[in-house]
Amino acid sequence: CGIVGILGRGPVAEQLVDSLKRLEYRGYDSAGVATLEGGVLERRRAEGKLKNLEARLQAQPLKGFTGIGHTRWATHGKPTENNAHPHATDRVAVVHNGIIENFHELREALQKKGTVFATETDTEIVVHLVDELLSQGVAPVDAVRDTLSKLKGAFALGFIFAGHDDLLIGARNGPPLAVGYGKGEMYLGSDAIALGPFTDNISYLEDGDWVVLTHKGATVYDRNNAIVDREIVKHGPTA
Ligand code: GLU
Repeated sequence: CGIVGILGRGPVAEQLVDSLKRLEYRGYDSAGVATLEGGVLERRRAEGKLKNLEARLQAQPLKGFTGIGHTRWATHGKPTENNAHPHATDRVAVVHNGIIENFHELREALQKKGTVFATETDTEIVVHLVDELLSQGVAPVDAVRDTLSKLKGAFALGFIFAGHDDLLIGARNGPPLAVGYGKGEMYLGSDAIALGPFTDNISYLEDGDWVVLTHKGATVYDRNNAIVDREIVKHGPTA
């Protein structure tokens, strides 16, 4: 029930978990993080409390500078490690809060084309829709734009992509999502509290917005894919 994403200048796994701790108040049943290791997506996930995920990370550290993290409150599929986010293929990793209401019909259409689903979640459809486009050579930003146009329901989403260290994409339709502006680093989070340790320069996405982050900044698009300005506000201390 919490999302965080970081485009960092050093390893981000520990920061991702620290940020997820600040979202614990929302409740959750499992958690996970993914980072890019030399351009390759690697993830660690665990049932239960964040200390289980921390133990997993201690045994098998993640060293990537670009990453996403998630605390899950299961709506579709049991709270198992396999259903924990991030969900991923070799090309894309996704974290999601909320519900994709039309996942069933979208999944059936892809299954007819031969796509194999690994989890019971509504979220996994998002991964495969984006992955299919990427496999056809579509650029990540275009693949996400196209996929968002097919989704119905309430969602906050975060995406990272294999081979793209300088890219983090977020989308909001319902659950809140904030963009954090750091010094040469950029952040995505469910709220300003999650981003408190990193920056107090925050902008909030509006419903239907999606955002493309690079280390240099953010470009926000509205639901009609027009570039829009979302004011950066100073958020006071959140500790
Ligand atoms: N519907 C998704 C799932 O069950 C996301 C739940 C959440 O908001 O954490 O995996």
